[in-house]
Amino acid sequence: MANTITNRCINAEMINMSNGYTSAFIEITCLVGSHSAHEPHEKDLMVWFAQRDQHIFGAGAVGFDIVEIVWDKNLFERQKTFILQVTDLIIAKKNWENMECAPDSQTLKNFRAFYQMIAQFKSENVDESLEIPIASFDGTIKLYDTCGIHKVYKHFRGCVVCNAALPY
Ligand SMILES: [Zn+2]
Repeated sequence: MANTITNRCINAEMINMSNGYTSAFIEITCLVGSHSAHEPHEKDLMVWFAQRDQHIFGAGAVGFDIVEIVWDKNLFERQKTFILQVTDLIIAKKNWENMECAPDSQTLKNFRAFYQMIAQFKSENVDESLEIPIASFDGTIKLYDTCGIHKVYKHFRGCVVCNAALPY
């Protein structure tokens, strides 16, 4: 079982990740990126990535295409810059204080490939009808709540990093 990240608007490249590597990819993105997210559009992106949680959608069911990110045409360049900055921090091994173990070389390779995908994606590729929306919060957890332990933005069912410790 695996998940793939694609960039079909641009080319046929694909990042293939086992379920474990996918969890690592999402958790690292949220752990590192949540530190840097201050503006609402940055926090929204963190919530969106957190929501790629195999404990919600099932193991092997959280792959995505770059066009499915919650892009906003008006904020596109700022969103893109933010994701590239977060990916850069990860590759440069910054903001890793909350990490339980250091990402391995395969994980870093995945982030380098992801950086290229985001760099190649352009505002004219944005198609809001193809986006995976951020799921509604029911009030128990509120939008932009963070995990007391991991400091990451929660999705509608909690913290993606806490969930990773649970069995499927
Ligand atoms: Zn947590």
